[in-house]
Amino acid sequence: MPYSPAPTRYDNPNFYRTCGRSGLKLPLLSLGLWHNFGANDNFANSRSLMLHAFDLGITHFDLANNYGPPPGSAETTCGRVLREDLAAHRDELIISTKAGYDMWSGPYGNWGSRKYLLASLDQSLSRLGLPYVDIFYSHRFDPATPLEETMGALDHAVRSGKALYAGISNYNPTQTTQAAQILRQLGTPCLIHQPRYSLLERTPEQGLFNVLLTEGIGSIVFSPLAKGTLTNRYFAGVPADARAARDPRFLKPGEITPALLTQTRALDALAQQRGQTLAQMALAWVLRQPAVTTALIGASKTSQIDDNVGVIKNLAFADDELTAIDRILAS
Ligand code: NDP
Repeated sequence: MPYSPAPTRYDNPNFYRTCGRSGLKLPLLSLGLWHNFGANDNFANSRSLMLHAFDLGITHFDLANNYGPPPGSAETTCGRVLREDLAAHRDELIISTKAGYDMWSGPYGNWGSRKYLLASLDQSLSRLGLPYVDIFYSHRFDPATPLEETMGALDHAVRSGKALYAGISNYNPTQTTQAAQILRQLGTPCLIHQPRYSLLERTPEQGLFNVLLTEGIGSIVFSPLAKGTLTNRYFAGVPADARAARDPRFLKPGEITPALLTQTRALDALAQQRGQTLAQMALAWVLRQPAVTTALIGASKTSQIDDNVGVIKNLAFADDELTAIDRILAS
């Protein structure tokens, strides 16, 4: 069946927020292709996740060179959907990719050298079948490469037309300030930072968010559902089709402890009082931060995307709700 996007997809203008001090708007939720888009996954499901997200107004798909498995295959999957279904809608989409983690053998397939970043971007464009990505990231700070070199590679990617904007991920507050200064001097402002942030991982509150607000950098926070643990996914054990069972490299069943389940069940009860699911409350909670532009979710089923998009119905928190959340997390 040829795909035709839902005509209602842009009906809610409140679903978009400006990214830092830029002209770019991003949806409240963005879809990440880290899991469920590799060559080993079901292509029909991967395709329906992307198209369903787009039907709901999710205009941003996030990738990295190494997403799969095998590494690179999520970009190939995305490229196929872009070519076969979304070619007419390229200008409605923000496609990002990154380089920084282990990608190919030898000294030039990892970290932050100009050699690695620019070669990797060319490889990503080839897998995606695109002449440019919208955002190209340094995936992590490289202590062994001068920051001027890594940021110079991002600047070059933009100037050469292979990326429209530059971003950084997993940089600490000091590294972020330095990167922003270098990029500003080069004339390519840092658009966006991609840190991990959720109810269970609050490090960006300790300085990073202030730096982002000062520098005018937007943020896209990854794993806002703590890889699925901030949902009802694990309340009745570990389902066979859940990440902790299917791909325990990054979420081991043993991490879903009785203590964690006690906390998430208490959070779920609070979410129900707010008329939300736990996933929706966890997303609203990250989106309440002025420094956060968009929450970068993953999904294995279209019903999860439906659930998550429902966050827009209640984004506000009363002070006593925030206090109750802190109390649950401290218990
Ligand atoms: P999440 O915390 O959103 O976890 C996604 C998982 O949660 C899904 O795969 C699904 O698990 C479960 N889930 C999602 N919605 C629901 C729901 N409504 N109800 C029940 N379960 C739900 O994010 P990810 O950890 O997947 O990361 C998101 C993206 O962030 C990645 O794809 C990637 O783009 C980016 N990222 C960036 C990193 C970086 O270093 N910059 C590092 C890691 C991620 P299940 O599969 O079990 O159904």
